[in-house]
Amino acid sequence: VAIAVTRERREGETRCAATPETVKKLIALGATVSVEAGTGLGSSIPDGDYAEAGASVKSDLSAALAGADVLLKVRGPTASEISALKPGAVVVSLLDAWRDKATVEALRGAQATAFAMEFVPRITRAQVMDVLSSQANLAGYRAVIEAAYAYGKGFPMMMTAAGTVAAAKTFVMGAGVAGLQAIATARRLGAVVTATDVRPAAKEQVESLGAKFVAVEDEEFKAAETAGGYAKAMSAEYQAKQADLTAAHIVKQDIVITTALIPGRPAPKLVTAAHVASMKPGSVIVDLAVEAGGNVEGSKPNEVVTTANGVKIVGWSNMPGRIAADASALYARNLVAFLGLMIKDGALSVDLEEEILKAAVVTHGGAVVHEGVRG
Ligand code: NAD
Repeated sequence: VAIAVTRERREGETRCAATPETVKKLIALGATVSVEAGTGLGSSIPDGDYAEAGASVKSDLSAALAGADVLLKVRGPTASEISALKPGAVVVSLLDAWRDKATVEALRGAQATAFAMEFVPRITRAQVMDVLSSQANLAGYRAVIEAAYAYGKGFPMMMTAAGTVAAAKTFVMGAGVAGLQAIATARRLGAVVTATDVRPAAKEQVESLGAKFVAVEDEEFKAAETAGGYAKAMSAEYQAKQADLTAAHIVKQDIVITTALIPGRPAPKLVTAAHVASMKPGSVIVDLAVEAGGNVEGSKPNEVVTTANGVKIVGWSNMPGRIAADASALYARNLVAFLGLMIKDGALSVDLEEEILKAAVVTHGGAVVHEGVRG
């Protein structure tokens, strides 16, 4: 089986879908690997390291894709890549398939068998290929680093001869994978941390990290977790109660990190313009959900907005890409595990009835086969 890895072509994408380590693992599975020159640059991986690992480095896209059975990407392939695919080729990538219908349509038209890594189910067996977790964890870490950078004060309490520096009060909204790592990171830096979520399971996890849990814990909260472990969209009534609680709490915070997402829907608005206006000058908000529409009113993708009252709202849309070398290393390992489901004795054998592959396949044989995306 011939595997191709090409340079990321989407704006601002610094990660890559293979590393020298995973090239070796793919070769061990019986594959040959071609890598387009420049693929690893954003992750500080020179072309020569891929060659040393056994890949053949190709100078351009068409050479890298020639004869490829499988194309590995971080973000969905662009039109130039899709048009260079051979019919029936397998594509594995984050497709953003709920939103990016044009790419799904192009992959369908090219007869590709395209898998969206964001659809890999969150089951125990699939943890090793769970790119949402591997990337969200790094995003949560980096969100705190970005907040610390934008904040004009320190995070830890420091008692010095010249007096005491107060600890930063940090509020993490959404305590899933990214939020929990944000809590842990803010605590390591010495912040006093509170956190909220709508899933009851989050409470114990937040507390186990040494943060205080703050939430509207009514009957709806008790039923907010779906069977898949995700949050439901909350009722208008719940949202109003949540907004009141946020209003009382946020005014005392120095740093707010928001991470709340609901699969297949726009991100819930958790921080209103009035909440932001109530915060102290110099406070920092990082909106990790900015690409999904944002949790914070006034956040803008890839901008740091400073409000009239001096609050900074950080909206980097590709937070894992700001810690690209680690993000690529983990993502690429996730892909090797995923490919292990379809490479047997060096040959490609794609069983679309296999549970994980079935959940992740979006296009096959000239059709959009993923029900959610099709509907
Ligand atoms: P996510 O990225 O979809 O959402 C982030 C967080 O935002 C979630 O905790 C969610 O409950 C929260 N949220 C949504 N709406 C909210 C609102 N209105 N107010 C406040 N918070 C809100 O979630 P995720 O980080 O991908 O993970 C969700 C859950 O799945 C977690 O419990 C995680 O531990 C679990 N998980 C399980 C596995 C597994 O293998 N079993 C793998 C990964 C994640």
